[in-house]
Amino acid sequence: MYRTHNCGELRLENVGQKVTLAGWVQKARKLGGMTFIDIRDRYGITQLVVDAAAPADLVELATSLGREYVIQVTGTVLERQSKNAKMPTGDIELGIESINVLNKSVTPPFTIEEESDGGEDIRAKYRYLDLRRPPLQRALALRHRLAQEIRSYLDQEGFMEIETPYLIKSTPEGARDFVVPSRMNPGQFYALPQSPQTFKQLLMVAGYDRYFQIVRCFRDEDLRADRQPEFTQIDCEMSFVEQEDVLNTFEGMMRRMFKNALGVDIPDPLPRMSWYDAMDYYGSDKPDVRFGMKIHEITDKVQGHGFSVFDSVPYVGAICVDGAASYTRKEIDQLTDWVKRPQVGAKGLVYIKLNEDGSIKSSIDKFYSADELAAIAEYLEAKKGDMILVLCGAKRKTQNQLGVLRLEMGSRLGYRDPKVFAPLWIVDFPLLEWDDETQRFYAMHHPFTAPKPEHEQWFYSDKKEDLERVCANAYDFVLNGTELGGGSIRIHNADMQARMFEVLGISKEDAEYKFGFIINAFKYGAPPHGGLAFGFDRVCALFGGQETIRDYIAFPKNNQGRDVMIDSPSQIDQLQLDELQIDVRPQSAE
Ligand code: ASP
Repeated sequence: MYRTHNCGELRLENVGQKVTLAGWVQKARKLGGMTFIDIRDRYGITQLVVDAAAPADLVELATSLGREYVIQVTGTVLERQSKNAKMPTGDIELGIESINVLNKSVTPPFTIEEESDGGEDIRAKYRYLDLRRPPLQRALALRHRLAQEIRSYLDQEGFMEIETPYLIKSTPEGARDFVVPSRMNPGQFYALPQSPQTFKQLLMVAGYDRYFQIVRCFRDEDLRADRQPEFTQIDCEMSFVEQEDVLNTFEGMMRRMFKNALGVDIPDPLPRMSWYDAMDYYGSDKPDVRFGMKIHEITDKVQGHGFSVFDSVPYVGAICVDGAASYTRKEIDQLTDWVKRPQVGAKGLVYIKLNEDGSIKSSIDKFYSADELAAIAEYLEAKKGDMILVLCGAKRKTQNQLGVLRLEMGSRLGYRDPKVFAPLWIVDFPLLEWDDETQRFYAMHHPFTAPKPEHEQWFYSDKKEDLERVCANAYDFVLNGTELGGGSIRIHNADMQARMFEVLGISKEDAEYKFGFIINAFKYGAPPHGGLAFGFDRVCALFGGQETIRDYIAFPKNNQGRDVMIDSPSQIDQLQLDELQIDVRPQSAE
């Protein structure tokens, strides 16, 4: 037997017991003849002590232990003289009688403790060492807990976990595919799934009724915004359902996850907001509703007063920032520069301050009387001490800029506490999105999303304005300004699916070549169905109160899509290339 207990387990009630522990040496130090060693495993850390009066060879062995040696120790549990309230095992220590070195370790390249001294790159290269650190162990434990909650909930709700293939044909989630050459079919390629979308719909055609999978998906995207080329979805599909059924089912799942993993109760039912309201009031389809500071349109209130900047644009909008009237001239100039950065893209910033003494100070005093400014302030429900910030321009673009500014001001005011959770559903998305550059429609969700039945007449119209009005029973689950998942009620009729491809400008031949299998399947009695998928990595990160998903993935890739630990991607040898009948062009030196 290697151990009687783990390194996080012993407490005062174990005092006097003879126990054996096994784990890694986190650190060893000498103090007045005594040797203290912290031994760690994934359950915790226990302090070991080798008394100065212990046999000389034991003292010598204890002092020779290096960091990350794997040891097995036997000793008696003692009450500590100086207790450490911060450690769960801090009331006790283990008086060591014997040490068995199970394995030595070379000196690790960084400290393996709660906080490490190692930079990101070195920790990525030695990921297996970084994974020994408690924060990463907690992150993966949370991920595991959530996965178990998901499985047990969905099983109880009658969902079947069914695996779908990885070597497939393109799935239309709007990103670039990763492709895999086929040796047996030279010159032909598989695509790795961006999602199991078509397969889960085919499972509905096949009568499986309720499907789920915690599944790896692959998207060859630029990785700047904390994305991973391979990531995990909680992918689900249900037959004979309407939007209401899907939302209720997955609200239940989320409620259970929050309760059982975090002890947090989320509202029942969850709030819902239409896509249009989200855009109008928060300038984003993933609003952070932990705080108010909503966007108000004030176009009517400011136009016609001779201020050409406002008169020449279709939209003027504002937010009211609590307590910001104290901003100095310099701080306002800095904020103006901030909104002018390309990441925000505003042309300028107008402010209206409601000073504590009741006076109003604004950058547009020249064009508006104090009463007119006071009326705007009242419309925004501003209080003394607040500052109103105004942007103008094209409607959606300006709302978006105001949304970015709102988040910035919310952060500055401490309104975005990661331990506060404000989930909601965004519903009633437009079905299609017009792209000026390519002069065509794109599916806002994906091409399998159905128009709302009451909007079908517009869906079959040839007029752009009609098509722009079509909404879908599509929904996103949003938490604290992040989209955690989304889905829709699907098309289940072959003709409607063909019409969708037509609207998207995909030729009959192309649709047939890429998606003939699903159009065909819909001819054989496809049930009405719908579903959704959650981004599991991000769910874990947000539940853990973190912004980046990397810590919640055991072996992630870096921003260049590289796994620096195994050094991949890498070249393959000529034999493999020959078998695949692939010629690699010589790489130009950069
Ligand atoms: N396949 C979709 C996605 O990956 C989700 C869904 O519609 O179920 O975003």
